[in-house]
This record gives sequence, structure tokens and C-alpha cells, in this order.
Amino acid sequence: MTKWVYTFGDGAAEGRAGDRNLLGGKGANLAEMCSLGLPVPPGFTITTDACNWYYENGRAFPPDLEDQVGNGLEHITAIAGRKLGDPERLLLVSVRSGARASMPGMMDTVLNLGLNDVTVEALAADAGDARFAYDSYRRFIQMYSDVVLGLDHENFEEILEDEKARLGFDLDTEFSADQWRHVVKLYKQKVEEELGDPFPQAPQEQLWGAIGAVFRSWMNQRAITYRRLHDIPESWGTAVNVQAMVFGNMGESSATGVAFTRNPSTGEKALYGEFLVNAQGEDVVAGIRTPQNITERARIEAGSDKPSLQKLMPDAYQSFVSICDKLETHYRDMQDLEFTIERGKLWMLQTRSGKRTAKAAIRVAVEMAKEGLISKEEAVSRIDPASLDQLLHPTIDPNAERNVIGAGLPASPGAATGEIVFSSDEAEEMKARGRKVLLVRVETSPEDIHGMHAAEGILTTRGGMTSHAAVVARGMGKPCVSGAGSLRVDHRNGTLIAMGVTLKKGDVVTIDGGTGQVLKGAVPMLQPELSGDFATLMEWADNIRRMKVRTNAETPADARMARSFGAEGIGLCRTEHMFFEGDRIVAMREMILADTEDGRRAALAKLLPMQRSDFLELFEIMAGLPVTIRLLDPPLHEFLPKTDEEIAEVAAAMQVPPDKLRQRTEALHEFNPMLGHRGCRLAVSYPEIAEMQARAIFEAAVEAGRKTGDPVVPEVMVPLVGLKTELDFVKARIDEVAKSVITESGAPVEYLVGTMIELPRAAIRAHVIAETAEFFSFGTNDLTQTTFGISRDDATSFLEAYRKKGIIEQDPFVSIDVDGVGELVRIAAEKGRATRNGIKLGICGEHGGDPASIRFCEEVGLDYVSCSPFRVPIARLAAAQAAVRKG
Ligand code: ADP
Ligand code: MG
Ligand code: MG
Repeated sequence: MTKWVYTFGDGAAEGRAGDRNLLGGKGANLAEMCSLGLPVPPGFTITTDACNWYYENGRAFPPDLEDQVGNGLEHITAIAGRKLGDPERLLLVSVRSGARASMPGMMDTVLNLGLNDVTVEALAADAGDARFAYDSYRRFIQMYSDVVLGLDHENFEEILEDEKARLGFDLDTEFSADQWRHVVKLYKQKVEEELGDPFPQAPQEQLWGAIGAVFRSWMNQRAITYRRLHDIPESWGTAVNVQAMVFGNMGESSATGVAFTRNPSTGEKALYGEFLVNAQGEDVVAGIRTPQNITERARIEAGSDKPSLQKLMPDAYQSFVSICDKLETHYRDMQDLEFTIERGKLWMLQTRSGKRTAKAAIRVAVEMAKEGLISKEEAVSRIDPASLDQLLHPTIDPNAERNVIGAGLPASPGAATGEIVFSSDEAEEMKARGRKVLLVRVETSPEDIHGMHAAEGILTTRGGMTSHAAVVARGMGKPCVSGAGSLRVDHRNGTLIAMGVTLKKGDVVTIDGGTGQVLKGAVPMLQPELSGDFATLMEWADNIRRMKVRTNAETPADARMARSFGAEGIGLCRTEHMFFEGDRIVAMREMILADTEDGRRAALAKLLPMQRSDFLELFEIMAGLPVTIRLLDPPLHEFLPKTDEEIAEVAAAMQVPPDKLRQRTEALHEFNPMLGHRGCRLAVSYPEIAEMQARAIFEAAVEAGRKTGDPVVPEVMVPLVGLKTELDFVKARIDEVAKSVITESGAPVEYLVGTMIELPRAAIRAHVIAETAEFFSFGTNDLTQTTFGISRDDATSFLEAYRKKGIIEQDPFVSIDVDGVGELVRIAAEKGRATRNGIKLGICGEHGGDPASIRFCEEVGLDYVSCSPFRVPIARLAAAQAAVRKG
């Protein structure tokens, strides 16, 4: 026989905190609190397995559930001395949902179950308070009708508002017993009118109705959406908790409240919470009345004239404080608590680890480690690396003047300034020209991913906190303001209309993703800093981790930013960006379109000094830390002039007729550029390019060494190698250039030549390639594309469908596909080491900043990960967590 029901109460429980998979978080913690001897109303939990059984069997209850629930009720009766439906010693229960992961407000709860026309009188007599009894009954009718019978709560709220207006009341607490009795009558009439049947009177019928409704609430739209956003599998199911009611609405010595053992927004160690006198259940959160502060200190800080719990009910307050301490010590984490005081007696109704801001999470972890409650390893392991993102973006200088032209939702943190554009293609084009843009859309869709990538920030006029724009922006760590409804995008005229101002494409706007404000013009920003508890935590992480963390950076600004975030070198300096700026692109085009080697060398000679100074600046910033420079990689295609204007410009510079250039451009056109003339293939066809780049690198290294006294050991990386012979060919050219630079400068130049492993062939032949390559860097973006045969730029249109249909769990471009791509990495690492003992191994794809992928890198034993500057602290923390995990 399967055990579907676990009881708790009176200092004992059948479950434990560790049983959350089976009992849900709420049930497991209620059991744990009972075992700790805390005052918890008795009850029982129906397991998540029962919920799954229910769904697997056409929404039917397991056959033996009825008996087990009957036993559970007897257990409550034995402890409480009360029985469901018995007017002599009346028991009321709550029926509460509770999944494995907390899903606040997503599923349903019914309170005061067991009330009917007869028992309500018994409750009145028992409590000596008819007002309380009818208040409870009207709450029950509303909740039950809403949750179980599917009759929207608005039906009842309307009636209540009408009655209040008729009686001239402001607050629910002003109703007398008779007035509530009348409301109950109206409620029951409404139910019968709307549903054709009277409100169910039999407590057993009520109970089973509620249990079924809680199971069904697992599949309501809110819950489904929440699960999708939080990656919670449907297969977990929800538990149901049936628990004896205690009453916070039994008059002035009763109350209900919620609290955190520490401040959830700052992390300060100070009890933080709110309560309401003579209230029940969710009244505190529902905002029906303004709640009161729990501590005197908080009351004073808030400037409230309503007494604190500390003042009003000192005994209950004292018990509560000691329970808070006990729970925090027991769980070794900040708790989020729900409690009720019934006529002066405190009852605990829920405890769980409290949700908190990233800032609070760090402070709590660091302080708990300092208090000796947890170890440093645990402190480091507790912070979700992705959450650091909230702390790593520029924010608007609080002293700056704000010219606010609109407001929306603070959908993704950080502030961003840019020229506004209205389409993702425009965003991408402008970004390629080195401009900073803000993508403005009515709302975004998966087709906008490239534009969102290119933009500094995203502004939408429609959509909420969970809209596409908001979710994707948070994922990318880009500032976003969504649903700025007071702004209007006029696509026809290409304008943004905001409070009387009309902005055109290219006008500068700033968004504040922390407040939702939209501001005109550029606004002074404060750069994020690693200080205080954050710095302490990162220091602990650095002491724990084994892998180094480098950054992907090619501009001085990015390199500096990355260093201030703790980067230990550059793992990927892409050189193509350096060819797009200003007149460089013209010289670059000249080089590509020249049809002789001499023509190419002449154009390259113009580029050499520019490249050299780029590298010099990076070397100086990195002050002796390793710098990996990748030779030109993208398809030639991308550099070709496209418009007539561009062709004319290059033709003039080359002094050739535009038509001839156009022909050459057409000849270079490729059908599939990503698999075309790119990577080391460029260096094979045009060795002059690699030679120029190698020269720029070595000359800059010599100069930087002279200037700073820190000798630079550049790592020259040859991209897209599939054959050892390709690498041999390019390396020979690089070595030759190095020799000449050494002779010319009279300075020693130390350097490494290695390759990216980004083709399956390279991974499989890594032992051979390692004969030449002195390091490997896993370029997992391309390796993912080439392993799956999926183009990253085109994947968004179908990968989302794959995810929804359960064919893949994770976008392999976001988190490394451990089984496939990861296996190739593992093979290449092993083979590389077999040939060249201690060969330096790193990763430089987007995965280098993804915590799950970083865990994989630790398992394979890579030497470093490299990621974008803003992700450096995330990677430092994730690398430490991976090291702790590996043990
Ligand atoms: P949620 O998961 O949405 O927080 P809960 O099951 O915790 O829902 O119920 C919401 C509130 O209802 C609780 O915070 C508590 O105030 C009240 N409540 C639940 N069960 C009881 C009970 N047995 N006695 C008194 N109040 C209860
Ligand atoms: Mg709730
Ligand atoms: Mg709750």
C-alpha cells in the first residue's frame, strides 16, 4: 500500500524537512517545525505522488486515499479535540497547496473549511463571538466558490463593496455579526444564482472538493506560466496540506502576519515584517488595511503611528522572536515566516528560506559565515551567480538631473543610454558601425534576439515583467524597461512620441531598468563597484576556485572594466572589430578587393599601425597578464561593401572603376559564409593578413614590455583549424614574423601559438593538432553550431519550439550540451594532454560565463574560462562553486 498521507502535530511528525520532494516545501517544513516542538496547528500532508497519480489516472483520487485522509482527520481530532462537522466540538481546517519549489500565490488555498449554516452557529457559540463566526463564514464562501466552484471572487467583492457603501463603512472590521450574516445570505444567493446549486453544506464534500481543486491548481494558467519561467518541471506535482484552523480574526487579541528573520532587501540582521490585528490569512498581503510593523524599531523608522506587535502583544512577540532565532539557527538561513495569533497564543503556519535581492543574499551569506553559522564555502555556494548581474550594471548617478519622459516596468536592472532605433536590423547595423543603440519596440519577439544583443538596452511600450523583452533581457543581463504605456511608437513616421516630445531614430534616450524610468538624453552614470560584502564574498570565492577567469575583450574600455571586475587576462581578443571602425573598413575593403598580393600588402600596411596601437593599449591595460589574440576570423563576406555608396568610396581609395569592384564583390559572394571562407582559411589564402597581424602583435609586445617593464607573452590563436597542416602552415608564417621582429628590435619575444577547437574534426584529431598547438581554447559557440549543424543566427525560430515540446531542455548556445559538445571538449582535452603534457586549456565561447557550463569546465579540468567583462564576477563565483562541488 502506498503511503499518501503524512501527519504532523503536537511535537511530532511523520515527515522531515528533507522530504520536500514528496511533501512539498510547505508540508516538509510544517513537519520539521512540529518536530522542533514549535506551536503548529496539527494536520496532515497529502503527497505530491498522489497529485501525480491523480493526473495519470484521468483526474481520479487513488483508491486508498479516502481511508488515509480519514486517518489523518482522526489524527487532528486526537490532538485538537475537535472534529470536522461536529457542532459540539467543531473543527475547521485549511486546505493548502504546496509544491517542491515555492510558487508564491500561484496555486490555491482554502481557509475555514467545515463551516455551513449549522456549524457557523456552533462556532459563534464556541468563540462567544458571532461577528467572528460570520466573518469566517463569508471568507470561506468566497474562497471556496472561487477556488473550487470556479466562481470568480469579484462576484463577492462587488457585493461586499455595495454593502459597505450602503452602510457607509470604510473597513471590513466595522461589520457587526448581523451585518456579516446578511452578507453571507447574499453570497449564498449569488452562488445559487450563478451555479444553479446551493453552496455545499456537507464538510466531507467540501473537503474533497478542496483537495481536488488544489491538485487542479497545479495546472492553472498562472502556475503553468510560473513553472515555465522558473524551469520547474510539471512532473513535480503539488502536495496538499490539511491543517486545523487557528483564528487571527477572533477579536482584538488576535492577529496574523508575515515576517523575515532578516531584511530581505538589504540583508540587515533585523527582524522584518508586518501584521494585522483581527485579520485572517492573506489580509496582510492583500492590502485591505495598512499593516503594522512587528518591531518597535521598524515602526519608528517607518514613522508609523500604529503600535508595533512588540508593544501591542509583548508576550506573543517574545515567543515569536525566540522562534525566529531557533528557526534561523536550525535552517542556517534567513527564513520567511507566516504566523497567526489567536487570543494571545502564537501559532506558526509556515517557514521557508526567504527570497531576497542579490544584495541581501550577499550580505546574509557573508554575515552568517562571520557569525559562524555557515562556512565560507557554503556562503560562496549559496549565491546564485546569475543574480550578481543585478549588481554589475551602471546605475544613474543619484545626483544627476532626470528629464523623465515616460515610465514603464523595471524589467531588467541597470541603466543604458543609446541612440534609439525601431528595428532589430537597424540596431545590428548601427552597432556594427560602433554606435551605441537603444532598441525601442512595441514588444519584442524571438525574431528580435539579434537586435537585443546589439542594443545597450531595450525599451518596450507594451508587455509586463514576464514579457518576451523582459525575460530575454534579464537573461542577457541587458537593462530593460517594458510596458512603458505612456510612450507611443509611430512606425509609419519612425518616431517615438513621449509626453509631448517627438523623438526620431538616432535621438539619445536613457532607460533606468531599476526604476522603469525613461529619460531624454544621456545621463551621468555610476559604474558598478565590487565593494563591501560583495568584495568579501568574491575574495572568498577567489581563494576557493582553481580555474582562472579571463575576459573576452577587444576594446580598452572593456579590458579596463574586466580588470576592475577581477579578470586575470584576456582569453579572447577578437580582431575583426578592429577593422570596422572609421577609415579602417575602407582599408580593409581595399585589401580584400585587391586582386594582387602587392595590392593587398599596400592596404595592409595602412592597417598595421592601427592594429599595433590597439594591441599596445590592451597589453598595457593587462599589465603582464596573458592575452590571447585571435587572428582574423569572420567570413570575408562580412567585410564586402554592400551599398553603391560604399563601393564608390572604396573604388575611389583604390583608384579603380566602381564596376570592376562590383564584379569582384560579386565573385566573393558566398552562399553559406559561416561555413565558407573564414577562420584560418583566410590566413591560408591571404597569408599577408596573418603576417600583418602577427607583426602588430609582436611589435606591440616589445613596446609594451619596454614601457611597463612587464614582459607580455602574447598567445596567438589561429581560428577554425580542422587539419594540423592548416595550423602548421599559419604557424610557420607567424614564427617567421616573430624572428624578424626579434632581429629588428633586438628584444626577445616570447609567445605561444595555439588554436581554437571549434570543429568536431579538430576535437577528434586533437592529439595530432597538439603537436603544433601550444594551447587550445574551446570556441564552443562554433563548436555547438558545427556539432549540431545548427546555425546560431537562425536557431531561435525553432529552438524555442524544441524547448516547449520537451525535445531539448536548454538552449545549447546558452548552456553547454554536456553530452555532445561537452564530450568533444572532453575528448580534445584528453588527447591534447596526451600529446603535450600540461597543454593550456581554456574556453572562450558564451558558455565561459554560464554557471552550469563553468561547472562542466571544472569537471574536465580546464585551466581557465573566458567571458564578457560583466560576467567576470559571475564566472569567478561559479568557478568557486564548481570547485566546492567537485570537492
Ligand atoms: P500561500 O502558499 O499562497 O502562502 P498558504 O497555504 O500559506 O498559501 O495560506 C495563506 C495564508 O492562509 C497563510 O499565510 C495563513 O495566514 C493562512 N492560513 C493557512 N492555513 C491556516 C490555518 N490552519 N490557520 C490559520 N490560518 C491559516
Ligand atoms: Mg497566497
Ligand atoms: Mg503561505
